[in-house]
Amino acid sequence: MSSRRCIDDDILTVLWTQDQLSHKVEDIASQITHDFSSSSCCPVIVGVATGAFLFLADLVRNIKLPVTVDFVRAESYGSGTVSTGVPKLSCDVKLDVTGKHVVLVEDIVDTGNTVSRLISYLEAKGATSVSVCTLLDKPARRKVHFELLGDGKFYSGFECPDYFVVGYGLDFNEQYRNLPYIGVLKPEIYK
Ligand code: 5GP
Ligand code: MG
Ligand code: MG
Repeated sequence: MSSRRCIDDDILTVLWTQDQLSHKVEDIASQITHDFSSSSCCPVIVGVATGAFLFLADLVRNIKLPVTVDFVRAESYGSGTVSTGVPKLSCDVKLDVTGKHVVLVEDIVDTGNTVSRLISYLEAKGATSVSVCTLLDKPARRKVHFELLGDGKFYSGFECPDYFVVGYGLDFNEQYRNLPYIGVLKPEIYK
C-alpha cells in the first residue's frame, strides 16, 4: 500500500498555532461586537474567497450581534507566490449592501491592491461604511494606501513577517488551506 504524504511534513516553521489563532479571532470578534452594538442596522460581513473562509467562519461564530454573511472572490496570485498586482474580481456580492455597514474580511493584506479595489467596489455598490478586518497584515510590503469608507475601522490580528505563509485558509497553489495553523513552507515545495 502506498503511503500518502502528511501535509505537516511540508512546513518549515509554525508562526501561529491553532490556539493562538483562536484567541486572536475571539479578540477581534469582541471588538467588532463592541463597535457595532449601537448601530441601527446589522453589519454585512463580506469574506474574500477563498483565503478568508476559515477566519470568517470562526469570526462570525464569535460575533454576538445579528449579522449577514456574503462572499466576493478576488484573485491576484494565480498559482505563484508573487502578486500580479491586478486583483481580478470574479464573483459579485449577492446581498444588497446599499446603506449598509460592511466589514470586509481578508486572510492577509499584503500590497493593499485587493482591499483597495474592494473598498471602491463596495462604495460603488452604495455601502455606508467599509471596515477591513484582516487576520494578517504585512505592512512592510504595502504598495497601495487605502482609505476606509465612512467611519469604517481597520481590524488586524497579527503583523506578518515578509514570508509567504500558508494554512488556516491561505494557500500555495490551492493547497494547505486546511492546515489548522499558519506556517512557512519548506523551500523545496516551491520548486
Ligand atoms: P494584496 O492584494 O494585498 O497584495 O494581497 C492580497 C491577497 O494575496 C491575499 O488575500 C492573499 O490571498 C494573497 N497573499 C498575500 N500574501 C500572502 C501570503 O503570504 N501567503 C498566501 N498564501 N497568500 C498571500
Ligand atoms: Mg485573500
Ligand atoms: Mg491564494
